[in-house]
Amino acid sequence: MGTLLRGGTVVTASDTVHADVLVEDEVVTTIARHIPPSDHTVVDVSGCYLFPGGIDPHTHLDMPFGGTVTIDDFESGTRAAAFGGTTSMIDFALHTKGDTLKNAIDTWHDKASGKAAIDYGFHVMVGDMNASVMAEIPDVVEKEGVTSFKVFMAYKNNLQADDETLFRTLRLAAEVGALVQVHAENGDVIDVLVKEALEKGLTAPKYHALTRPPEAEGEATARAIRLAEIAGAPLYVVHVTCAEAANAISDARKRGLPIYGETCPQYLVCDVTDYERPGFEGAKYVMSPPLRDKWNQDVLWNKLKNMELQAFGSDHCSFHLKGQKELGIHDFSKIPNGSPTIEHRMNILYHYGVHEGRIGLNKFVALTSTNIAKLFGLFPKKGTIAVGSDADIVVWDPSVKHTISAATHHMRADNNIFEDMTVYGKPKYVFLRGHKIVDHDSYIGAVGQGQFLRCGRFYPVQF
Ligand SMILES: [Zn+2]
Repeated sequence: MGTLLRGGTVVTASDTVHADVLVEDEVVTTIARHIPPSDHTVVDVSGCYLFPGGIDPHTHLDMPFGGTVTIDDFESGTRAAAFGGTTSMIDFALHTKGDTLKNAIDTWHDKASGKAAIDYGFHVMVGDMNASVMAEIPDVVEKEGVTSFKVFMAYKNNLQADDETLFRTLRLAAEVGALVQVHAENGDVIDVLVKEALEKGLTAPKYHALTRPPEAEGEATARAIRLAEIAGAPLYVVHVTCAEAANAISDARKRGLPIYGETCPQYLVCDVTDYERPGFEGAKYVMSPPLRDKWNQDVLWNKLKNMELQAFGSDHCSFHLKGQKELGIHDFSKIPNGSPTIEHRMNILYHYGVHEGRIGLNKFVALTSTNIAKLFGLFPKKGTIAVGSDADIVVWDPSVKHTISAATHHMRADNNIFEDMTVYGKPKYVFLRGHKIVDHDSYIGAVGQGQFLRCGRFYPVQF
């Protein structure tokens, strides 16, 4: 016997249909207008949408950063993700100077295994790309099931890679079927601006944004795209925040290049004025790249609508305001970068996108799940509701209205950058490979239920 989800509306990236869905042995086995109940466990899902489980392509759990460690580990972070309708994620394994990629991946396996509530894969965030690290990439792609590598164009004298390194990495990735991701901001320019601000005694959180202008992001994005073009390589630009960067991606795509862009909920609903909040509250919004002038939000929405940006990630990187963000109370450059966003990624895109009429249901599914599965070699096991696919299904009740708050969220952080936002739509049930893990406001899964996902080699996807 299986589990029969009866009377709902199945939404994929391409279709919206009224249908029953039968789940057996962790996968979807039948989708039909009417499936007889037989001896199945019947779950009434009438009035709800059935979305493929969300896939978050950008998270930082249990990660050392700026003299502290992100406050959500794989247990609290993945449980919070499940409450929001996310059933898979790809976390960034942090590679540091002198380390091997293999060891970075092993370290991340140790952090995740036995703890994760949802399925998970890894990218490697390369802290020091050099000849020996590069030489390891083919093996990692082949044996580890890790096929995406993030290179930094910012954080001078720390994580930043120069153009030669980025170009060599792109060329190699193209050969072995890997996807290079870039953090695109001009680190040299930012370094000058930060030093000048601090010399003038400008230390408040708002100077974080003023020393990382959108032009620095636009320049680095355009440069990375040109390097990828010369290398004949695909490129994935993480956390796109502004018109300068988003337009560079659109221009490249018009030239037919396999360039992909991701944006995040915070850039759609928060803006640069949040840094002006009283006291030290602006620190909650310190992330890189920073929040931008509000008009950029319309640009990003249009890019999502037209699929000129294809992926929607949380960039969840959570810190307490007390004791962690406070490390930078006298110096904005010492505020740990990042915010707790893993739980509300789908809420924000659903409410401000679908509910308010900016994007359609199918686009919502494409951006939060299907496109990501395709870009990182997880499709069609993940990313859709289809016969044979993993039964990762979010039963989404569009009529529920709720207010987001740190007082009620499931993430560990003592703050929430979406505090007081009232949104429509929430998961009623969440199924991970056919197992119900969320029932209304209760987590009913088991610690360690999440399995490691081997990502496949990159193939050029047309969106
Ligand atoms: Zn990030």
